[in-house]
Amino acid sequence: MVVVGSGVAGVTAALNAHEALPGRNVLLVTKSLLDDGSTRWAQGGIAAALGPGDTPEQHSRDTLVAGAGLCDPDAVRTLVTEGPDAVRRLIGLGARFDADPAGVLALTREGGHLRRRIAHAGGDATGAEVSRALLLALADAAADTDEGPGIEAIEHAMTLDLLQTTDGRVAGITLHVIGEGQHDGVGAVLAPVVILATGGIGQLYVATTNPAVSTGDGLALGLRAGAQAADLEFVQFHPTVMWLGPGSTGRQPLISEAVRGEGAFLVDGDGRRFMTGRHPLADLAPRDVVAKAIMKVMAETGTDHVYLDGRHLGEQIWTERFPTIRASCLEHHIDPLRDLIPVVPAAHYASGGLRTDQSGRTSVPGLYACGEAACTGVHGANRLASNSLLEGLVFAERIAADLARGLPPTAEPAWSLARERPVGLSRSSARGQIQALMTERAGVLRSGPGLAAAADELRKIGEDASDQPGVAAWESTNLHLVATALVAAASVRTETRGSHWREDYPEASDDWLGHLIVTVDGLKAQPDLLVDGLTVIFEPMPTTPVSTP
Ligand SMILES: Cc1cc2nc3c(=O)[nH]c(=O)nc-3n(C[C@H](O)[C@H](O)[C@H](O)COP(=O)(O)OP(=O)(O)OC[C@H]3O[C@@H](n4cnc5c(N)ncnc54)[C@H](O)[C@@H]3O)c2cc1C
Repeated sequence: MVVVGSGVAGVTAALNAHEALPGRNVLLVTKSLLDDGSTRWAQGGIAAALGPGDTPEQHSRDTLVAGAGLCDPDAVRTLVTEGPDAVRRLIGLGARFDADPAGVLALTREGGHLRRRIAHAGGDATGAEVSRALLLALADAAADTDEGPGIEAIEHAMTLDLLQTTDGRVAGITLHVIGEGQHDGVGAVLAPVVILATGGIGQLYVATTNPAVSTGDGLALGLRAGAQAADLEFVQFHPTVMWLGPGSTGRQPLISEAVRGEGAFLVDGDGRRFMTGRHPLADLAPRDVVAKAIMKVMAETGTDHVYLDGRHLGEQIWTERFPTIRASCLEHHIDPLRDLIPVVPAAHYASGGLRTDQSGRTSVPGLYACGEAACTGVHGANRLASNSLLEGLVFAERIAADLARGLPPTAEPAWSLARERPVGLSRSSARGQIQALMTERAGVLRSGPGLAAAADELRKIGEDASDQPGVAAWESTNLHLVATALVAAASVRTETRGSHWREDYPEASDDWLGHLIVTVDGLKAQPDLLVDGLTVIFEPMPTTPVSTP
């Protein structure tokens, strides 16, 4: 089988599949270096009911509240009940979380959590530690044993598309291995199972916390293969990303919510706190609430950022809990002990993705997805802080369990299909155009006319094909398809809910209690919902009440 991506989800899926299916080949391919994804940048930690008095029920309740009516309660139940053991297994693998001298985990609080339940490592370097532990385990699993082959991992190998049989089943991948001279080229790997763990879509926007590899490749290639995507309109903008000055682009340093969890608060340019009175949790309100409040304050005061005041936290907290954030502030000549930190919302997390069931299966036979590339239904309209590393662990483990129940036989790809797709590659330079457009028209604030203009512009960008195939052109092509699908879903959802904010429809509406499912082909039975060549279907939430755990 092939696993695409080497973040928390991909490596967990590969390790578990290797263990569950001794004797089977597991190939992990990744676009850049093994640790180059969002996982290693995660700061705050992993949420799980691990502390005294905390329960999966309470974790579930907070997750459902953040999800604004659109979480799948069954998926949430799975996340919160299987989460604590998944974190314990990660610790068993060697991940070192912060603990007191007696070994009791140090747990912090983040926005939307009513309890301290976020396990963290190295103060604010949780992702780096999770990545370190998982990649060490991956290296340990590389050697062949008497039981079977080890996991093979290939860096600088970008998956381009899926190979499929004539009846649509997965048959492998095409990939571009990016190397020197004769090692550079396009090839194919045959496999009856492909697990997409390609991470997020932050590179759709000018300012993002996501690294350069987060171009929505898995989502795009899954869509091209006929898979369903869900909840694409729900992109979480992290409220507190360091503002680096006008016109700054690319990955921007995150100021974790945990800083507010420890007592920092937001102020406007005149030093006035503005979250108090807007929400019962004030500065620790769910992310969409805080991001929207910041956007409002910026609009009212005509400024392009607000400030985070953490001066009172003191030297010990800044050096012991937040060494990475402090270092990144100092790098930009801001001393958080003395200075206010300029902050602005930036694209952070895709709550939607390739739609999966609770075993990680997409709608394409043989195709699985996990981590940020997937939409398991746990996040609904807005992800609760620190639930994503946990989701990556829990649902990647479930894929391996599903595969252990039976693998499909290797299938013959229909090569003609592979040659037909994609119809045309976008130009590499389209990336910047798409980012500017999405930021202006489909970012934190959206409106019908703005989204229509975005769709028009995307259509024009799509007509301008590339004559230079290569990684950059494929990334632009993927960003273009994901942007088109996201804009289509955001246009259709005429309400404000969770992280989707429509200025022309400022209230949530019960008519929209459900999911928008986007496909490139298939589901064509309802042509009235065709948007830009994509089919967008509204699927109401099930009416049968589902009990909480
Ligand atoms: C700055 C920051 C802070 C965060 N803090 C937290 C936190 O405190 N707690 C929390 O729970 N979550 C946090 N998140 C979110 C969380 O880190 C991510 O959602 C999670 O790590 C995603 O894991 P993943 O394995 O799905 O993807 P990633 O870790 O992004 O990995 C994706 C992998 O896929 C590879 N890839 C992509 N496209 C291709 C392709 N075409 N071919 C081959 N390989 C490909 C990439 O190179 C990479 O290896 C944070 C995110 C960021 C950016």
